[in-house]
Amino acid sequence: MISIEEALHITKSNIPDPAVLEYAVEDTAEKYLAEDIYAPEPSPRYTNSAMDGYAVRWDDVSAAASDSPVSLTLVGESRAGTPYSAMVNKGEAVRISTGAMLAAGCDTVVRVEDTQERGNSVNILAAKRQGQDIRYQGEEFQTGALLLRKKTKISAPQAALLVSVGIAKVKANKPCEVAILATGSELITAGESIADHQIRDSNMIMLQTAIQESGGKVVSRFQISDEKQAIVEAISQADADIILCTGGVSVGRHDHVKEAAEANGFKQLFWKIRQKPGKPLYFARKGNTLLFGLPGNPVSAFMCFSHYVRPVITALHGLPFGWPTVSGEAADDITNQGKRTNMIRVQLAWRPNGGYWITHTEKQGSHMLTSLSDADGYIILEPGQTLKTGERIDVYRYDFRRDPV
Ligand code: AMP
Ligand code: MG
Repeated sequence: MISIEEALHITKSNIPDPAVLEYAVEDTAEKYLAEDIYAPEPSPRYTNSAMDGYAVRWDDVSAAASDSPVSLTLVGESRAGTPYSAMVNKGEAVRISTGAMLAAGCDTVVRVEDTQERGNSVNILAAKRQGQDIRYQGEEFQTGALLLRKKTKISAPQAALLVSVGIAKVKANKPCEVAILATGSELITAGESIADHQIRDSNMIMLQTAIQESGGKVVSRFQISDEKQAIVEAISQADADIILCTGGVSVGRHDHVKEAAEANGFKQLFWKIRQKPGKPLYFARKGNTLLFGLPGNPVSAFMCFSHYVRPVITALHGLPFGWPTVSGEAADDITNQGKRTNMIRVQLAWRPNGGYWITHTEKQGSHMLTSLSDADGYIILEPGQTLKTGERIDVYRYDFRRDPV
């Protein structure tokens, strides 16, 4: 048996380089950039109006006031999408819309509220400063400016920024592809009729959801009985970056996942960790394909996923190998009375003065899914260790939508 630290070290050292693909920006939501992005053009691309109003020459309007308006001849209009193409001369103005190109000869915009249009002329009632209400070409950024750094997550604002400067495709990390193999002759797909001695396969949907929330992609799912040959065949068909098996990885007579993996050419990297839950975790590799054999108990399977598999999925995105964590203080003493390092499921409660209280969920059995569904995350305590009331510790969060920190 190895320690959690050793298991993490081995896991981390066996992560292949992330795969990078070119994606249309519209397909990049939640992906991470694999390149720095520089501006191919300035923003704004052209000098334009920040207001609906009139484009004018400052020298004409600088003395305008409500009791002594300046009258200008209205010579045309610059609309969004249809600029005014001629020169605006002394004593002239053009009507202008927000975002429309500033007409040549003009250097100032007077907003509608400070004007009165009268037939072919417009009265200017106020003008505060030269250049008011103009957005200048390049005032946000110039051509060549660094817009987005490699590893930035592409969400709505980043996608909009890319498209706004005419970038339609970017290089991003390919989401990690995962095949799930739920093994166990007692398993019944949820929704099907069930006999007294059978178990509903909750691991399949649990892992599928967790993979999706971690940014991975489930590419195939197999539910297989505890027959070695059936598992060998399923593993050989599972074409993915990670093959995630559950069940059949312990020392029982019907546990065949390890042999089935090795019959497919996988080499064991570790088996069994000094931890509770999730002791029998198995990890193997064949080329760039990783295989995890998670224990069948749903809580053990989820804890192993959270602590070992999920950081691999995020690392394959090009993110750090890590976990979303938050610091909190124990609301009561919490002790690890066992002989193995314990991953204790806890709840977080927001304190009125800020920060979190940590309490542990009542029933911690590795077959008890409520210890997960009632929890916000887990803490790790060594054998014999007590976390005293008020003592601070990092909580590993189950909120997989957060990036590792
Ligand atoms: P195993 O690791 O195969 O010895 O299974 C340990 C326990 O987990 C047994 O009680 C199994 O019935 C249960 N189990 C195994 N696979 C699943 C699954 N996919 N969903 C829910 N429970 C499971
Ligand atoms: Mg089993």
